[in-house]
Amino acid sequence: SIYLDYNASAPIDSRVLATMIDIYKNHIGNADSRTHDHGDQARVIVENARKDVAGLLGISSSEVFFTSGATESNNIAIQGLEEYALKSGKNHIITTSIEHKAILETAKSMVRRGFEIDIIDPEPTGRVSVEKIVEKVRDNTLLVSVMHVNNETGIIQPIEELGLELGKRDILFHIDATQSCGKLVQELRNAKYNMLSFSAHKLRGPQGVGVLVLRRTGYKLPPVKAIMYGGQQEHGIRPGTIPVALVGGCGKACEIAADEYKNNSIKTKAVKTALLAILKESGLTYSFNGDQKHCLDSTVNLCLQGVSSEALMLSTKEYCSISNGSACTSKSYEPSYVLKAMKISVEQIEDSIRISWGPDTNLDEFKKQFSKLLEMAKVLVN
Ligand code: PLP
Repeated sequence: SIYLDYNASAPIDSRVLATMIDIYKNHIGNADSRTHDHGDQARVIVENARKDVAGLLGISSSEVFFTSGATESNNIAIQGLEEYALKSGKNHIITTSIEHKAILETAKSMVRRGFEIDIIDPEPTGRVSVEKIVEKVRDNTLLVSVMHVNNETGIIQPIEELGLELGKRDILFHIDATQSCGKLVQELRNAKYNMLSFSAHKLRGPQGVGVLVLRRTGYKLPPVKAIMYGGQQEHGIRPGTIPVALVGGCGKACEIAADEYKNNSIKTKAVKTALLAILKESGLTYSFNGDQKHCLDSTVNLCLQGVSSEALMLSTKEYCSISNGSACTSKSYEPSYVLKAMKISVEQIEDSIRISWGPDTNLDEFKKQFSKLLEMAKVLVN
């Protein structure tokens, strides 16, 4: 069966896995042990990984903080501002209604702690308007958090323009770059921001490790405090023993992405071209959710009119792993909040699937299985 759910989690690169196995076997130790060589070696691995992350993002390694993943990074980026908000009187956050729950739920939780939040809807294109965000800025605005690429639609948000606008004002800008890190490399290197989050597993690293970037202004870091108590690891931002092999794997994934992202984009584009051609020939009635001019090469959110996504996923799951990008349990089906925010009708949402792939997706295999999926869609159409 072909795996086409890379936005949920991408398969680990074999070179990353080899690096991690080597670390697990040969580099035991705690990176904070100062009394022996094993600790020193572990520390070298962590610091090299930090350089690899910094290299990919075009920043300094002293701005890279390892966490357990984007969820934790997003939580620190928002919750970690509470003390500063109390001191400065700045307690207003602006974010969007298409963010991942790790941002949305964290931001909403801050209301209980006296924060005010504005949640901006996207345009029907799936993009958020820079003007609408800037319009909401007030004297007490502390933070704007906007994702770079939406996980459900693949739509790329105008983070470069936003960074420029917010940079003119005294406001922190956080980017959830979980779906773009390692893919839109140049765009992230150009962007102006104060904080950035991602998870290694979306760029073919291991699950369970991620990064929070804190950009320095002069020598000063953004005023973020740890949200857990413990040791002084990661400058106290993220206490707890550093998982050396995971961090080493994250570094390796970033190193590979920095070397290969241009070539990867050619490969993922080829899959998209094939997808569009097969779709055109199918005779099915379809539309895309989100403006495809601003879509990642490796994602589509596709509405096959009259074909229930639930039925399609069930009937094709033996040969295709896709998703409908929404929380769906056997008990309840909730139409995607992202597509709803784009003002897409519930009927259209119910017929929508998300397909996402990567540079290692085999083109011939993709063509074969996607054609089969569309054959099944024709059977199910009503
Ligand atoms: N942010 C975005 C945009 C995501 O797509 C995801 C994962 O789906 C996350 C955050 C959370 O990542 P993790 O589950 O690895 O913490």
